[in-house]
Amino acid sequence: MSWRDLYCGELRKDHIGRRVTVAGWVDTRRDHGGLVFVDLRDHTGKLQLVVNPERAADAQVAAHEIRNEFVVQAEGEVVARAPDAVNPNLPTGEVEVQVDALRILSRSTPLPFQLDEEHVDETLRLRYRWLDMRRDRMQHNFRLSHTVIAAIRRAMDAMDFVDVWTPSMTRGTPEGARDFLVPVRLQPGKFFALAQSPQLFKQLCMVGGIDRYYQIATCWRDEDLRADRQFEFRQLDLEMAFVEREDVLDVMESAVVASFEALGREAPSRPFPRIGYDEAMARYGSDKPDLRFGMEIQDATGVTRGSEFGVFKSAPTVRYIVAPKVFSRAELARLEELAKEWGARGLAYIVVDESGEVRSPIAKFLSESELATFEAEPGSTVLFGAGDEAMVARVLGLLRLHIGRELGLIDVGLDAFHWVIDFPLFEQDEETGRWTFAHHPFTAPMAGDETWDESNPAGTRGQHYDLVWNGWELGSGSIRIHDVEVQERVFRTMGLSDEDAHSKFGFLLEALAMGAPPHGGFAMGIERFVALMAGEPDIRQVIAFPKVSSGSDPLTGAPTPMPDEILRELGIGALQAESSSSH
Ligand code: ASP
Repeated sequence: MSWRDLYCGELRKDHIGRRVTVAGWVDTRRDHGGLVFVDLRDHTGKLQLVVNPERAADAQVAAHEIRNEFVVQAEGEVVARAPDAVNPNLPTGEVEVQVDALRILSRSTPLPFQLDEEHVDETLRLRYRWLDMRRDRMQHNFRLSHTVIAAIRRAMDAMDFVDVWTPSMTRGTPEGARDFLVPVRLQPGKFFALAQSPQLFKQLCMVGGIDRYYQIATCWRDEDLRADRQFEFRQLDLEMAFVEREDVLDVMESAVVASFEALGREAPSRPFPRIGYDEAMARYGSDKPDLRFGMEIQDATGVTRGSEFGVFKSAPTVRYIVAPKVFSRAELARLEELAKEWGARGLAYIVVDESGEVRSPIAKFLSESELATFEAEPGSTVLFGAGDEAMVARVLGLLRLHIGRELGLIDVGLDAFHWVIDFPLFEQDEETGRWTFAHHPFTAPMAGDETWDESNPAGTRGQHYDLVWNGWELGSGSIRIHDVEVQERVFRTMGLSDEDAHSKFGFLLEALAMGAPPHGGFAMGIERFVALMAGEPDIRQVIAFPKVSSGSDPLTGAPTPMPDEILRELGIGALQAESSSSH
């Protein structure tokens, strides 16, 4: 038998007079004594059923029994609604189905929340995700996600990329997070790591002559969960042989534009602007700046060298932003508190009120020429950062964002895409002083930067690039090292002995030594991209079954303890006392 002739949302005036069978969920039921009205819903919309006891006595018995979210099937005739009953807000609002037969296909227990209820606790929504999914918002998000991924696949196919599946269970891949481990029954005491990304496999595909690889790849990273982070997520992962940076950026821009077009949205214009890492840090205090508003950071290190204000005089870096507001003392105290949380010692300021009068505890120490440099218009506040360069950039960058949001300076109608390029190759750990990779250890140095001091690689630039949308990092990539000696030097700089490097990455070093083409690639977080496309505040809203911030899945109750005999078989023992006493 056929369950339905057409979808609930499809009925229109053209169907008047037709006999139809429809099926779906009961959205609402209104019992008017004699007549019963039922709104029947599926993924396409809602339609109104009318059960009239004079027309169908059996159907009316069933109609009395049904409750919200029962699944029912109805057969009847499509009729025009009376003029005063037309619902202009509903695409099916001009018609209704006069029911002749009504069958309950499935019942529902009372619901933990109503589908039209707002502000339902998120854990409850996730616990009953199958109900939550029936709502418009979720239906919209999952279909939007599908449209974007389908468009990306079409674009990749059109650009001759080959979808190659790579293993999830592998050796640890250094993407900067902890690994999830998988014990192995056949080899007790040994573990696979779940891939943090297909990085090394995609590079091996290049050595293997695939030329252009892509995958919508699942990645696993053991990190604290946040609005834009889950243990598992997907990437549009790609790698290309015989390319330079611009070739990779061009492909990524095509994929982004294809996604916008598939959604019927105006696409950002190409090429996306490029901004160097040093410039981004200096002007915006961030390697993922939000370019939808100005309030750029400006430098005052030169003019404050001979300052009588001791803090400025001795600081290696003095920079400032000018906010278009006369902040009150209380507001300034709050901003100073934030600056301190972010690592500043204090927050010097100059308020220039509407009449041009200067209010500032430090003004008396500043010369005319210093004051003139800050160019503050009446009705604004100059806020300073003084200290080491990294801290000053970070604090002013965060203040800029905070004030930009608070004062509504961000043009939310804009889609500001850009590339940040020319990142440093290495970073120094603030605590241990050790050098490590900035992106991952497979990123190539820039031409001309191939020879660095292995004990102090400061200033070495890498061929690493990030894609940023409205202040969100969408993804990263790089041109890779294809020379085995350069690769060994990177490992040594990170403090890996040649022996360690060969034991962990011997397969890569061997592959690089057997005819590796120059290559490079990129990976973009799919959920983050889709969430931004959907205008959602966090990626959980575009993931079917996400975990909550504690790392648990409220729906299945995972993770769970395992029986001892299973653990024994895997060659592992759980430190049970610790895990049970901590709850
Ligand atoms: N594997 C990198 C990442 O996951 C991306 C890349 O370099 O292609 O961030």
